[in-house]
Amino acid sequence: MKLTNRSKVVSKKEMTLAEKIYIPAIVKGMGITLKHAFQKNKTISYPEEKRVFAKVWRGQHVLKRDDEGRERCTACGLCAVACPAEAITMTAAERTKEEKHLYREEKYASKYEIDMLRCIFCGLCEEACPKSAIYLTDRLVNTETNRGSFVYGKDKLVEDMDQRIDISDRQKKSYKQPE
Ligand code: SF4
Ligand code: SF4
Repeated sequence: MKLTNRSKVVSKKEMTLAEKIYIPAIVKGMGITLKHAFQKNKTISYPEEKRVFAKVWRGQHVLKRDDEGRERCTACGLCAVACPAEAITMTAAERTKEEKHLYREEKYASKYEIDMLRCIFCGLCEEACPKSAIYLTDRLVNTETNRGSFVYGKDKLVEDMDQRIDISDRQKKSYKQPE
């Protein structure tokens, strides 16, 4: 019984003389090899050479701070809900009076983690965030030697005010997500 209607009838016709001696097929194969042998090499010598990524490249996330250095994230959890890979986890905490200079909202993420092995860099967390707190950047996720190191916490995700990350291209109204 057929499981699908995608079956293909295979012809059992006799091979021609040219097919039997294989020479035309060998010549054709050598032609393809020679064509590629003289093409420009597409590989690069990383890390000495680096590829230029498109502006819309989606790499490692950043949790943004505002211009006063306060964390924008309010631990609403919308990014985690939107994430199809269930890569984001967080713990919410309440800001104290003394912490007003650290967090923009009354609620903040005391713990925020992204499992980079689960992440598929789709950018849905960025789109879901109502506080413009999370963006995907042009940074690459580092290679690691154990799985646990791929769970990035706030120490790796929150923006460093001395090395701010420019995501202005993504914030422009004209910006369109790549298809
Ligand atoms: S980029 Fe996609 S998969 Fe990765 S954390 Fe954001 S929503 Fe999840
Ligand atoms: S990054 Fe944005 S969507 Fe995610 S918890 Fe923080 S404020 Fe909410």
